[in-house]
Amino acid sequence: MSNYNDDKYFDKDCIFCKIIKGDIPSNFIKENEYCVVFADLNPKAKVHLLVVPKPHVQNILETDEFLMNKVLETIKKVSKEQKLESFRVINNCGKGAGQSVFHVHFHILSGDNLEE
Ligand code: 5GP
Ligand code: ZN
Repeated sequence: MSNYNDDKYFDKDCIFCKIIKGDIPSNFIKENEYCVVFADLNPKAKVHLLVVPKPHVQNILETDEFLMNKVLETIKKVSKEQKLESFRVINNCGKGAGQSVFHVHFHILSGDNLEE
């Protein structure tokens, strides 16, 4: 399960799928076989990145260990590359938790005022 570029992993109505496919132009801070990383449109911190696994998976409950391992690797690499000393990783699962895009993603927040 390593080629996530196949159309079966793509949801034509999903904004993040369109970004991943390049149908909506974006600047990827990082891209590998499994994930893309790009800046959030409405940043909630000085640095606000989204780590988005390539296959269309609605939320964290629909992921598996393989994909989550790739997400973890990507978070580690991007934090090193972007020289983020302190940061917060957030996943919103479900409307009640504030999930608004139903393609699983992980927020990386870094900058001032994250002590609490
Ligand atoms: P959620 O609320 O689902 O946890 O996070 C979705 C995030 O995606 C929000 O922080 C929102 O600002 C961001 N977002 C929604 N649409 C776009 C887009 O088209 N481009 C980018 N870069 N971010 C988006
Ligand atoms: Zn999607």
